[in-house]
Amino acid sequence: MTHRACVIGSGPNGLAAAIVLAQAGLHVDVFEAEAIPGGAVRSMELTLPGFLHDFGSAVYPLGAGSPFFASLPLHKFGLEWIHSPAPVAHPLDNGTAVILERSLKDAKNSLGDDGPSWEKLLHPFVEHWKEFAPEVLAPVPAIPRHPLLMARFATNAFSSAKTIAYRFRNDRTRALFAGLAAHSFLKLTEPLSGAFGLLMAIPAHAVGWPIPLGGAQSLTNALCQYFASLGGLLHTSRRIASLSEVPDYDLYLCDVTPRQLLKIAANQLSEAYKRKMQTFRYGPGVFKMDYALRDPVPWKAPECRRAATVHLGGSFDEIAASEAAVRAGQHADQPFVLFVQPSLFDPSRAPADQHTAWAYCHVPNGSKEDMRTRIENQIERFAPGFRDCVLARNALSTNALEAMDANLVGGDIGGGIVDIRQLAFRPTWRHYATSAKNVFVCSSSTPPGGGVHGMCGYHAAKKALSTLAG
Ligand SMILES: Cc1cc2nc3c(=O)[nH]c(=O)nc-3n(C[C@H](O)[C@H](O)[C@H](O)COP(=O)(O)OP(=O)(O)OC[C@H]3O[C@@H](n4cnc5c(N)ncnc54)[C@H](O)[C@@H]3O)c2cc1C
Repeated sequence: MTHRACVIGSGPNGLAAAIVLAQAGLHVDVFEAEAIPGGAVRSMELTLPGFLHDFGSAVYPLGAGSPFFASLPLHKFGLEWIHSPAPVAHPLDNGTAVILERSLKDAKNSLGDDGPSWEKLLHPFVEHWKEFAPEVLAPVPAIPRHPLLMARFATNAFSSAKTIAYRFRNDRTRALFAGLAAHSFLKLTEPLSGAFGLLMAIPAHAVGWPIPLGGAQSLTNALCQYFASLGGLLHTSRRIASLSEVPDYDLYLCDVTPRQLLKIAANQLSEAYKRKMQTFRYGPGVFKMDYALRDPVPWKAPECRRAATVHLGGSFDEIAASEAAVRAGQHADQPFVLFVQPSLFDPSRAPADQHTAWAYCHVPNGSKEDMRTRIENQIERFAPGFRDCVLARNALSTNALEAMDANLVGGDIGGGIVDIRQLAFRPTWRHYATSAKNVFVCSSSTPPGGGVHGMCGYHAAKKALSTLAG
């Protein structure tokens, strides 16, 4: 008899779980609350007709480097990665920019005195990405498959971003590393913040930081179409309030965060498990802006046009201060801004000769503060005249983000903070399993955490299949 599985939520992790289950021959139904599948991997006209914006994620180092996505024929279903010539630009106040070059050799040459240290730090992991990626994009293993490689990573990974950055001699390289590490939502003096910097830098050289042709939705559409080709069924506009609404499945995989799981699986979970889940901690939120632009961004440093992603925050110390403020529950006056300019490399995102831009900064979880002026001041600092290019803008507060994707609790885009405790016990020591033997969590609240790689869904589905077999 064919087993039946139900996946709640069609984010990249829900779709990854659904695909693994369908590949194993199960009958799989995916229930998605929103009208369009994809969660934080969707594109829509948020400003003006003809301007296509990524609602959530936009740039995919871990998507391109995901061992699971790489195993799927997604190109046959329309997924095409576009690489900007350089993965990241980091402008500075003197009108120049530090550029993170795609090849490690070019990065070594461009980073001056720090080039050899940059290369020494990253080379083993870039060279062995195929061995490294499955190890880091999984629960922390008791015994790694590549112990020497992972021991080398661990010696740096538990360091703070500051410890790693101050191995470099130049303020420019330190600023570049600060921008990469600030993706962590941690203080740059906290353990693990260094690991995030490395996990952003390594794929930049190993697989790039690409954007999908046609926007984030192209990745979701490719996953959905492949899932459909395996016989899977996707039901949109179906918000599941309780698992009892969808009886008669052998397995339930929930692409939701702990707070939501506590509601929808309240009757299935033990009291002890629920108490543990209640202690799960969410991270800071984001305040997001999308822009329709009449012209490309007028960067003071023209080399910023070589990169799809631009980190706006200035020096190491400024970025560290911005992130420390947010971690302390405050709003930074000069927030670190992550900025993406997709239409420079993908003309399908905007009408001819016009452009889109995407930006966000970190804010305390659930923040109600309007950050648009502070975000635009940071953009103007490095691109004077930016505001004159704006045809239309759309702001998404933490509340607005959560209203469009229930997993973005308080605007947290990572499914919960990744500090040392929640790295090891994510969301509990059981990881994907829960106290109910047929209910599993498969969202970014499980290892390896946030980012679009599908590996949470992949591991959760493997775990679920193993219990079925057992
Ligand atoms: C603004 C922003 C920028 C980001 N930038 C990047 C980036 O550039 N690169 C990157 O790699 N990552 C980025 N991320 C993070 C990345 O998008 C997430 O880590 C990833 O999407 C998590 O996938 P998921 O499947 O766990 O959850 P989600 O993508 O959040 O999907 C969860 C899905 O479950 C659905 N759902 C929830 N509850 C229910 C219910 N009760 N019933 C039915 N359906 C339900 C939701 O509607 C949603 O579709 C960004 C996220 C945001 C919001």
